[in-house]
Amino acid sequence: MQSKTYKIQITGCVQGVGFRPFIFNLAKRKGLFGSVSNNGKGVIIYINASKEHANRFLNEILTNKPKISIITSHSIEVVTYQEYSDFSIIASNSNVQINIPLTPDFAVCNYCKEEIKDSSNRRYNYAFTTCVHCGPRYAITTKFPFERANTTLSNFEMCSDCNKEYTNPTNKRFHSQTNSCKDCGITLKLVNNLGETVEDNQQEIIQKVAQFISEGKIIAIKNTNGYLLCCDSTNKEAIQQLRQRKQRPNKPFAVLYPTIKAIKNNFKLTKNEENALQSSVAPIVILQNSKITTIEVASIAPNLNQTGVMLPSSSLLELILQELQKPIIATSGNIHGSPIISEEKEAQKYLKNVADYFLHHNLQIEFPQDDSVVKFVDEQQIILRRSRGLASNYIGIESKTNEPILAMGAHLKSTFTFVPNQHTYVSQYFGNLDSYEVLERYKNTIKQYENLFNSKPKIILVDKHPQYQSTVFGKELSQENNTKLIEIQHHKAHFASVLGEHHLFTSKEKILGIIWDGTGLGDDNQIWGGEFFIYQNQEIIRTNHFEYFNWIANDKMAKEPRLSLFSLLNNDTRDLIKDKFSSTEWKIYSKTLKSNTLKTSSIGRLFDSVASALDIIDINSYEAEAAMLLEDCANSYNNKDYVDLLEFNDYDTIPSILLLQIVTKAYKIDGTSKAYIAASFIYTLAKIIINEALKNKIKTIACSGGVFQNSLLLKMLKERAENQNINLKFNRKLSANDENISFGQLMYFQNIKNK
Ligand SMILES: [Zn+2]
Ligand SMILES: [Zn+2]
Repeated sequence: MQSKTYKIQITGCVQGVGFRPFIFNLAKRKGLFGSVSNNGKGVIIYINASKEHANRFLNEILTNKPKISIITSHSIEVVTYQEYSDFSIIASNSNVQINIPLTPDFAVCNYCKEEIKDSSNRRYNYAFTTCVHCGPRYAITTKFPFERANTTLSNFEMCSDCNKEYTNPTNKRFHSQTNSCKDCGITLKLVNNLGETVEDNQQEIIQKVAQFISEGKIIAIKNTNGYLLCCDSTNKEAIQQLRQRKQRPNKPFAVLYPTIKAIKNNFKLTKNEENALQSSVAPIVILQNSKITTIEVASIAPNLNQTGVMLPSSSLLELILQELQKPIIATSGNIHGSPIISEEKEAQKYLKNVADYFLHHNLQIEFPQDDSVVKFVDEQQIILRRSRGLASNYIGIESKTNEPILAMGAHLKSTFTFVPNQHTYVSQYFGNLDSYEVLERYKNTIKQYENLFNSKPKIILVDKHPQYQSTVFGKELSQENNTKLIEIQHHKAHFASVLGEHHLFTSKEKILGIIWDGTGLGDDNQIWGGEFFIYQNQEIIRTNHFEYFNWIANDKMAKEPRLSLFSLLNNDTRDLIKDKFSSTEWKIYSKTLKSNTLKTSSIGRLFDSVASALDIIDINSYEAEAAMLLEDCANSYNNKDYVDLLEFNDYDTIPSILLLQIVTKAYKIDGTSKAYIAASFIYTLAKIIINEALKNKIKTIACSGGVFQNSLLLKMLKERAENQNINLKFNRKLSANDENISFGQLMYFQNIKNK
């Protein structure tokens, strides 16, 4: 058979995932000659083979590719014949134009976990053990493509043993860019809150950390994605101390477990939850409290019947947990509202009054990220925070424009989306841009992306809200770079995000958009949040909204659920809740109500008002606390005899009538349980959505906005939709909350005519 030179191009997430070593070994096994290298599009392979062998080779690549890689496309073609005498890996040419996804961080693999526990292995106890299948990637990337020289590991020169592994095709660390060991790698440092060294013997440090945690101390541990604040999760006093020092009275903490078995001892897990916990993302998974546990659940997530749980994402955490053999609190190392800290100096400065000890190391973190958070409703994964392991690629959407686009996102749960080439990058979650530090992190990361891709935006998309810091900065950037600037309405962006995620823009049929969230500036300058849209023929039309009610006391309204209740009640019923306010407050708010002109249709505030009406909470201590508590309360209702609280569907009066029903039930002496009312409230909302689709004869409903993180609402919706043969679409790779706004802005800009 005649041999020709074939060029195979593989694109997708194929760099930094052990792809070249995989190809090398496959070619060697097949006795094929040629080469493999990274290029600007992914991985490029040349082989000399017959047509049949070349195709079979490609098939084997597609079938047996490294588990953590993602192939988005592939091609094979005959090129000019070249003579090869061997098969080799060729180093990347760094001058090429880059058009590939960023490689996300991968949690420590089982192979590496075994090695660090094996006293006969040379990586025994080495806290930065990684291989081609695991370790930090995005967090340490300084340039493209993913080669050691382009990461912060370039500061560490491999010793001869590591180099032997790196160059040996049969070794698991062949071409492992993050390869290092205790002789040549990253070193740990354990200091107290004055910065004084407590232990510098590398072998003793882990034991010492475990000992301190056991003794009830709080330790700031630098993981490969940023600092974590840790303490014993079975020690109530230690947890209370952490709450006090962090000034975080109620917001739930995540718990890091040593093994999946230990998690199973404390929680009932579904197969999906188990798989997610053990995946290369290793996110925090929100679990229902279902068993008696050894951990202090009441202090970990006060007033909630759920706990956020995860497994070690790095060798460092694996070693500490192995030593301790019990679960620990592991919460982002930051001070109130600021971003996760990743530098030693900052940690010592800002956390000195929070942590007793600091475990530092000398691997520089380029892109600090919080841990990602997910939960499951039946089979469906709901992303609550998209960060480590998930950011920043959005695989599956190709850009249609030649001009780089930057979408600035929203304000409270900020992200940005950048399209420098044909790939779409949705940044990790940053947080509330009211914080100066969060804003700085957000701005700097945009600059880093511009450098990374060597590209500046030509088009900038911003939210309509002029006071969002993302809008302010977007306008600045637009002036600086002389770009086009386009404003996109918040809820239309939410809608476009789901339409984009499900490739629905080409749909011939009408799609109903239910966009319910806390706040967003509407086209009529009122605060929207309970919106009904219809999508058809590249157009989004707002067809309906919930009755407007008074938005009072500015930002305070979102923080104090009692104010939403105050605003929604009428003059006859308002007196029922007088004891939730001081007499001065009552006077002030009553006066405000009379002169107020700002209106809202926010369902987020409706949830707040119900939580307050049921006396669940009047003042939040953290964002969305009322919504979480109300969901928890409704979930605790075990029967299915909840009722529709409305006899008719008239949007013009729904919130106030609905609330009147609830308040009447809650405040009358008929002994109605809170859980029953809460479940009935959510049931009523689900019914409203399905009825709207039936009324308009629409078969597909797209839902987005923070309200759709409510698991009971999702369950009830799914049940009713199934009965009526209606398709429900939710955000899937993105969170339903404002984290999806930047992506939605991009989708809106690219697909909607009536801008
Ligand atoms: Zn590994
Ligand atoms: Zn070494």
